[in-house]
Amino acid sequence: MSSIPSLNQDRPSGKAQPRKIVVLSGSGISAESGLPTFRDAKGLWNTYSWQELASPAGWQRHPEAVLAFYNERRAKAWQAQPNAAHRAIASLEGAYEVVVVTQNVDALHERAGSSHVVHLHGELACVRGSAGASPRRYRIDGDPIAMGQLCEDGTQLRPDIVWFGEAVQHFDDAEMHVATAARVLVVGTSLTVYPAASLLQYASRDAEKVLVALDMEEVPHGYTFLQGKAGEIVPTLAARWLAEAGAT
Ligand code: NAD
Repeated sequence: MSSIPSLNQDRPSGKAQPRKIVVLSGSGISAESGLPTFRDAKGLWNTYSWQELASPAGWQRHPEAVLAFYNERRAKAWQAQPNAAHRAIASLEGAYEVVVVTQNVDALHERAGSSHVVHLHGELACVRGSAGASPRRYRIDGDPIAMGQLCEDGTQLRPDIVWFGEAVQHFDDAEMHVATAARVLVVGTSLTVYPAASLLQYASRDAEKVLVALDMEEVPHGYTFLQGKAGEIVPTLAARWLAEAGAT
């Protein structure tokens, strides 16, 4: 497996806190729960392109189609159950401070019991007003939304999802958490979506850094690549880390 140099080998790293684990997850961690990954997801909708359904321009052109697309994704995500990898990550809270920074828009980490989840790309389970810099947000869990359902400011409710061309959420927080982790576990992401993928470079030089995926073209410098299914590898890794903390 080839290795590429980290962009920040000389970047001063944060002070790692010994009991802090940061998990960076992507769509692959939810694959074993039955949710398609990003590449598979292109097949979910046949009439419009993925970009048309996940962009401000697409929302302007055909909001009904966008709402229908996300209603379907929300319903499927709500029917899905957390898998062994989500549960193993939640179990680490028995001995560590755990922050999950996820690109995923499902709620499977929370539903598995993780208490500190940072969603970079928004959440299917939430909607927000469609105007203004700080719109009100509402939690709707698995329910659909329809045209005509309005925010208190009178604007149409839209999915609380970061679309193409919109800024990711909570990035500074995520960067701080990665920089102060003693262990960084990257699971189920191809590291092709930015800026989320750039978070890896903020990990402390001394941190234990592990990457779990089915495949990975280039393994970032300093990361140990464990190739295989998250549902098989993550529970074993979590058991080891819990044992090292004297929690088993
Ligand atoms: P990606 O599709 O680009 O990459 C998926 C990665 O997961 C690949 O590296 C693959 O090897 C790995 N993978 C697949 N099945 C796996 C398994 N069982 N165990 C371990 N690894 C597995 O996904 P990405 O990097 O997350 O980027 C895609 C974008 O799509 C993100 O922005 C995300 O918001 C969005 N998305 C989210 C969901 C979700 O919330 N569940 C679903 C689809 C897409």
